[in-house]
Amino acid sequence: MNITIVGGGFGGIKTALELSKSKEYNITLISDNKNFQYYPALFSTATGHSFKESWVPLIHILGEHDNVSIVIDKITKLDKGEKAVVGESGEVYHYDRLVLALGSVTTYFGIQGLDEYSYGIKTASEIRALQHHLWTEMKDGADTEKNYVIIGAGPTGVELAGALGQYLRQLRKHFNIRKKTLRITLIEASPRILPRLSESSSRRAQKRLERLGVRIQTGRRVQKQTSKGLIVDDRLLPTETVVWTSGVSNPVFYANNSSSFKFDERKKVIVDRHMQALKHVYVIGDNANTPYAGLAQTALHDAKYVAKHIKGNKKVYKPKYPPSVVPIGDNWALFEWGRLRFGGLAGGIMRRAADLIGYSDILPISWALGAWRSSTKRQMLVPPEEQM
Ligand SMILES: Cc1cc2nc3c(=O)[nH]c(=O)nc-3n(C[C@H](O)[C@H](O)[C@H](O)COP(=O)(O)OP(=O)(O)OC[C@H]3O[C@@H](n4cnc5c(N)ncnc54)[C@H](O)[C@@H]3O)c2cc1C
Repeated sequence: MNITIVGGGFGGIKTALELSKSKEYNITLISDNKNFQYYPALFSTATGHSFKESWVPLIHILGEHDNVSIVIDKITKLDKGEKAVVGESGEVYHYDRLVLALGSVTTYFGIQGLDEYSYGIKTASEIRALQHHLWTEMKDGADTEKNYVIIGAGPTGVELAGALGQYLRQLRKHFNIRKKTLRITLIEASPRILPRLSESSSRRAQKRLERLGVRIQTGRRVQKQTSKGLIVDDRLLPTETVVWTSGVSNPVFYANNSSSFKFDERKKVIVDRHMQALKHVYVIGDNANTPYAGLAQTALHDAKYVAKHIKGNKKVYKPKYPPSVVPIGDNWALFEWGRLRFGGLAGGIMRRAADLIGYSDILPISWALGAWRSSTKRQMLVPPEEQM
């Protein structure tokens, strides 16, 4: 049976690995990126750790599986009549079963200027651009006051805010700048940070960030970014560095093939009780309208379910509530799983364990050991263009 998987991320790789155990499947994994991107470490790479923490070549993960072929192409079209998808290259890929796991893309919710002036940490090129800016600004502008603004206090914004201060202080030391005032401001539209977690976790995270020197502004509405700064609630907040961590949506592939899909109010693809959007077409991970979509653990859970369904298990899909672990600064993380909630070194250890063990079925042990070594080392103080 020909299985075509689109997306070389958490969901796509896990589906390929699960199905590859049975030789009756011919698996083609198509991705527009030759590397797997390990999102949980992006904030760490953005604040000076190795790029190797966040990217692993697909060939290192799937190379030893004889019945899996890796194809680098960007899929643009679904031809359900022909049971095929079409790539940007013009190549047509036929399937008996299709699994779509395309992940998310950044959206600015129409806020003017963000696409032009703000930085992001969602891709390698975004991280390089941010690091280049931080380096050159630090090198060129001695003894001034700087405000670094992060928009969005979901896990990514909170993790970045917790790590940025230390990185900037190290850069300042590296360039021997004594007087520069570094201010980090975290802006959130909701009334509290980490709005998807409980109020007690949110308070704990806020206390921790404030201890690390981060200024928090909640209930604030970002209206516009210009070359001078950010307009928030009709007032100018002067800044040269804005990092946008808010806002993700499904890739344009779905809108371009909208006659084949139905969408919910979040524009996620509506799937049936077996994760199918169409007969023999599964949509998983961030793209599907499941309650916990938007988390790596959900993508892995979905992949395991779909692999079993393809193999003939007809049980109905059940969403799985995953634990949340949010690192904030060195050796500290917030943990929440139902009523089990705490923050501190124990959380930090849980997070390290999750990185090492939690993804061990998709990530090679050599990567895990390298990533662990990199994350325990002092932050790298080499020009970003020399990294990787
Ligand atoms: C900065 C950041 C930090 C995060 N941290 C965490 C965390 O700590 N814990 C957690 O649980 N979740 C975290 N997440 C969320 C998590 O990364 C996603 O939920 C998860 O990656 C979703 O898996 P997926 O398989 O749906 O998509 P992805 O893992 O994003 O994989 C999608 C793949 O599809 C490829 N692709 C896209 N379009 C096409 C196309 N048209 N043709 C071919 N290939 C295509 C992409 O290049 C990519 O390889 C984070 C997200 C971000 C942005």
